[in-house]
Amino acid sequence: MKVFISADMEGVAGVVDWEQCRPSGTGYEVGCRLLLGEVNAAIDAATAAGASSVTVTDAHGLMANLAPDALAGRASYRSGRQEPDYMMAGLDGSYDVVLFVGYHGSMPSPSVLSHTYNPRVVSDARIGGVRAGTSGINALAAAAHRVPIAVITGDQHVGPEARPFCPDITDIVVKQSLGRESAESLHPEIARERIREGVTTALHDVARLSPPTVVGDLDVDVLTTDMAVLAARVRGVERTAERTVMIATGDPLEAYRSFTALIAITRGLSSS
Ligand SMILES: [Zn+2]
Repeated sequence: MKVFISADMEGVAGVVDWEQCRPSGTGYEVGCRLLLGEVNAAIDAATAAGASSVTVTDAHGLMANLAPDALAGRASYRSGRQEPDYMMAGLDGSYDVVLFVGYHGSMPSPSVLSHTYNPRVVSDARIGGVRAGTSGINALAAAAHRVPIAVITGDQHVGPEARPFCPDITDIVVKQSLGRESAESLHPEIARERIREGVTTALHDVARLSPPTVVGDLDVDVLTTDMAVLAARVRGVERTAERTVMIATGDPLEAYRSFTALIAITRGLSSS
C-alpha cells in the first residue's frame, strides 16, 4: 500500500494565528513542531496499517515546513516552491490512498484561518454548485488519478466540507473553531492519538474506498474584476460573471492545473 499525505498547517491542533504559519512569524517554530507531530502520527498509523511507502507532500506556504530527518517511518518528503501540482504534487495512479492532514475550511466558512488557497484572491468556489474548499479542489487531482481520500484532519468544519466530494472520508477533529481567529484545541498528544486511531481504522480496508466524485464544473469567485480578467488568460479558465470564472472539469487533472495556474497568475494582483 502506497500512501500519499498532503500536509497543510492551519488545521493543526494549537494553530490559530497566521504568525504560527509563516517563517517570519513569532510562533512559527511551535507551529512547525505541532505540524510535525500530527504528520508523524499519520505516518505511524499508515505504517502500522501496512503501508509499504509513505510520501509527505508539504502543502503549506513555502512548502518547506518540516525537518526531513524528523519524519517518522522513513517517509519521503516532497517540498519546495513552484510545484505545478501544488498541494497534490507527486500524486499519481500508483498510490492507493490519500490523507489530508492539517486542513482548514473554505474562505466563507467559520473555520479558523479559513481560506480557499489564497485568501487575498478567492472569496468562494463551487464544484457543481456545491461549495468546494481546498479539500474539494484538491479532490480533483485525486479523482483524476482514481485514488481515494481516506482521511481529513482539522477542525469541525473540514469533514462536512470535504464529504460531498469524498463520500468515504473519515474526519478527525483535533480542534473546535470558535471563529476565524480562535479555536479550542485538543492537547497535541491527544490530537495525535486521535489521528493514529482514525488513520488506522480508515486504512483497515482501503479497497472499499471510492475515489472522489466530481460532478459539474468548478466556479471560482475572486475579489476583484482585475483578477477575473487575468485569471481568464489561463487555459481552461473562462470568465462567466464580473468576478467569477469557470473551469470545466471533464478532465479533472487539467481542471486542477488550471486552478493552480489561476492561483499563481493572480498572486501579483493580491498584494495591492
Ligand atoms: Zn496552509
